[in-house]
Amino acid sequence: MASYNILLLPGDGIGPEVTAEVEKVAKVVSDAGLAKFEFEKGLVGGSAYDAHGKAISEADMARAQAADAVLLAAVGGPKWANVPYDVRPEAGLLRLRKDLGLFANLRPALCYPALAEASSLKQELVEGLDIMIVRELTGGVYFGEPKEITNLPNGQKRAVDTQVYETYEVERIAAVAFELARKRNNKVTSSEKHNVMKSGVLWKEVVTDVHAKSFPDVQLEHMLADALGMQLVRRPKQFDVIVTDNLFGDLLSDVASMLTGSLGMLPSASLGAADANGKRKAMYEPVHGSAPDIAGKGIANPIAMIGSFGMALRYSFGLIEAADLIDKAIADVLAAGLRTADIKGDAPSSVSTSAMGDAIANALKKAL
Ligand code: NAD
Repeated sequence: MASYNILLLPGDGIGPEVTAEVEKVAKVVSDAGLAKFEFEKGLVGGSAYDAHGKAISEADMARAQAADAVLLAAVGGPKWANVPYDVRPEAGLLRLRKDLGLFANLRPALCYPALAEASSLKQELVEGLDIMIVRELTGGVYFGEPKEITNLPNGQKRAVDTQVYETYEVERIAAVAFELARKRNNKVTSSEKHNVMKSGVLWKEVVTDVHAKSFPDVQLEHMLADALGMQLVRRPKQFDVIVTDNLFGDLLSDVASMLTGSLGMLPSASLGAADANGKRKAMYEPVHGSAPDIAGKGIANPIAMIGSFGMALRYSFGLIEAADLIDKAIADVLAAGLRTADIKGDAPSSVSTSAMGDAIANALKKAL
């Protein structure tokens, strides 16, 4: 039986509560004989700062480099609001993304039928929605230089951010999107603003080339990012895989996430380049933060975290069937009416973090 080494970084706030539920689900998968998981635990964010005075220790960085996958919950909280900038909790996350070279951020927006009525859009627009947003994560305007505020002789200030992409950065993210589409509904929508941005002109050109050279079997369309924003709330089910840059991806994936209900439902994956064996460095984490307002109360929704483990099975370990069954177990418990407080809506009652984790683990056990 294949064995995988996972670095578990619970982080801060509700992190330890939701990661405990992942371990239950992982045990069900191992008990069924599908794979073995060795969990190593590390510290990131405020908890790492408290222990080592850094947002992640060198020893944990080395473990992250060596692991088959990193599973991170969330970092941050009011306790660390005033720590020095370079050791603030988020610095741990950014270091992991940078040092592991995680350039592709995959954010699925999946609307479980049982929650379709909780969306801010009409039920028929979102029921069965299944979009994958692929956001470029290590380039573009968040990292481009110069990035500065300078004082002008006239007493005014001038702020500059630089949007910059090179061919290889667009090529590799486009390839990730096309490969994903082949395993889904075979359609990629590439988004930029070539009408007003040079980086958009290059983006469109390179995506078109990658498509023609290596993925002509996948349907490709180009859509300006502003139009895509509009279409996402108008007719979201027209999309399969959306690929876009760091800035537009940040905005559009947040819009897409709200189509599906609570933050507590949304997993994500960040992938690096494939090595000679096709293996990629990878980190899986829920989209939500450390939710300090509910930390320690045992009421956090563990579904985003469990879904992130499901993505690790799918994208790092090739355990597609087990990943499908985890998604189905989540759908089943929701269909049976189980709700944590954040997705309670008009339901008569809600369950705890651990009751939700138990229910998903049990549903999975039955399916396996
Ligand atoms: P948040 O995602 O932590 O919380 C926003 C709201 O959603 C809160 O009301 C919270 O209770 C609720 N929520 C979030 N996850 C939930 C879950 N699993 N179950 C039930 N309810 C859930 O965002 P925030 O309040 O803006 O930030 C809190 C802290 O988290 C800050 O320090 C912020 O910097 C950090 N943060 C970290 C990450 C990360 O680690 N990737 C992401 C976002 C925010």
